[in-house]
Amino acid sequence: MKSSVDIAIVGAGHGGAQAAIMLRQQKFEGSITLIGDEPEHPYERPPLSKEYFAGEKPFERIMIRPEKFWAERDITMMLGRQVTSVDAERHELTFADGDTLAYGHLIWATGGTPRVLNCPGHDLSGVHAVRTRADVDAMMAKLDTVERVAIIGGGYIGLEAAAVLTKLGKQVVLLEALDRVLARVAGEELSHFYESEHRAHGVDLRTDVAVTCIAGKDGRANGVELANGETIAADMVIVGIGVEPAIGPLLEAGAKGNNGVSVDANCRTSLPDIFAIGDCAAHANPFADGATIRLESVQNANDQATVAAKTILGHPVPYEAIPWFWSNQYDLKLQTIGLSTGHDATIVRGDPATRSFSVVYLKDGRVIALDCVNATKDYVQGRKLIIGKARPDPARLADAAVPLKELAA
Ligand code: FAD
Repeated sequence: MKSSVDIAIVGAGHGGAQAAIMLRQQKFEGSITLIGDEPEHPYERPPLSKEYFAGEKPFERIMIRPEKFWAERDITMMLGRQVTSVDAERHELTFADGDTLAYGHLIWATGGTPRVLNCPGHDLSGVHAVRTRADVDAMMAKLDTVERVAIIGGGYIGLEAAAVLTKLGKQVVLLEALDRVLARVAGEELSHFYESEHRAHGVDLRTDVAVTCIAGKDGRANGVELANGETIAADMVIVGIGVEPAIGPLLEAGAKGNNGVSVDANCRTSLPDIFAIGDCAAHANPFADGATIRLESVQNANDQATVAAKTILGHPVPYEAIPWFWSNQYDLKLQTIGLSTGHDATIVRGDPATRSFSVVYLKDGRVIALDCVNATKDYVQGRKLIIGKARPDPARLADAAVPLKELAA
C-alpha cells in the first residue's frame, strides 16, 4: 500500500517543529508527518555554540519538546530519513532509500548546510562545522586532547565558539577574511566592541586574513596556512563561514529561487501546495524595505511556521513579524531588534567601556534597528521606535538617560 499524509513537513528543526505544533494548536485533525535527516527529535540549535558546547546544558534541556509530546499530539516522526526529491505534480516525496510518501500539503523547512572552505585540506579530520548536535558532540569528544583551536569566520557562531573555548582554557585564534568581525550583520561600533572583548579574554583575533590551506599530517588537521605565509598551529579547526540553503530537491522540482526558495507573504512557493519556511526561504521582508532576503534566526523560523500553518488551514496571514536575534558571549548578552542592513547612520547610546550600551541604526533619520549589549530596556523599548518608523531627535537618542519609550511618539 502506498503511504500518504495530509501534511508532510521536511526538516525537523525549529521551523518544522513549530509548524507541526501550530497545526495542532489550530485544531488541525488530519495526519501530520515530520521528517528529519538527523536522528534526534527536534532540538534548539542556538545552544550548540553556547551552553551545550560549554557543557552547561545537557541535550535533554535543549529539546524543543519532550520526546513523548510528538506521539501525544499524533505527529508521526520520521527521523534519520533524508528526502531526496519532490514530485510537485504528483504530490509525492522520495527518500534516499527509495521509499515514497504522498502528501496533500508540503512544508519545506530544511534550513541550511554549512559552507565548506574551498581550499586544500578542508576535508581533513579535525576540521569541524557547528550546525548539528553531531557536529558539536564530535568536537566535545576531542576537547580533552585539544589545546589550540583555530576558528575560521568571525560571525556570531565563530565568536560564540571562541568565547566558549576560551572559557574552557583553550588557546583560540580567530581568523576573519574581512576587515572586521560581524561585518555582514552589524555596524562598526559593535564589531570593534566584540573584537576588543575577545582580545581582552585572550583570543588571538585577526582580521583581513586569507586562509590558503588547512595543513595536516596523517589525514588530521594540524594548522591553518595563511596567504601571508604564516602557519597557525592548531589541534582543531572550526569553520563558521555561513550556510547554503538546503533547497536542491525543491529547485529540481521546479520551484523558483536561487539563494533560498522564493516564497510569497504567506510562505507559498511557486509550486502547488508547497510552502517553505525558515533559513531556506527567500521572502520580501517589510523590515528590509521589502527587499528579498533570507533570515537565519529562530524568530524567523517560528513566525514563518505559524504563517504557513495558518495559511494551509485557510486563515492566511502575511508574514510581517519584526526580526529579532540574540547572541551570548562571555557575560555579554546581545539582543538585536530590526534589521540594520542599509543603514546610513548610527548612534551609540551609553559607553561601550561600561559593557552596557546600544547601537541605534538609522536610515534617512528613521530608526530601523538596535543592537543592545547588556541593555534589555533599550531592546524592549526600541521595538516601538522601529515599528512606529520614529525619527527621534539624534541628541536625545544618544542620551542614555532618556528612556527610548519617551521618543516613540
Ligand atoms: P534548522 O533548525 O536548521 O532545521 C532544518 C532541519 O532539516 C535540519 O535538521 C536538517 O538536517 C534537516 N534537513 C535538511 N535537508 C533535509 C532533507 N532533504 N530531508 C530531511 N531533513 C532535512 N538563531 C537565533 O535566533 N539566535 C541564536 O543565538 C542563534 N544561534 C545559532 C547557533 C548555531 C550554532 C546555529 C547553527 C544556528 C543559530 N541560530 C540562531 C540560527 C537558528 O538556529 C536557525 O535560524 C534555525 O535553526 C532555523 O530553523 P530552520 O527550521 O529553518 O532550520
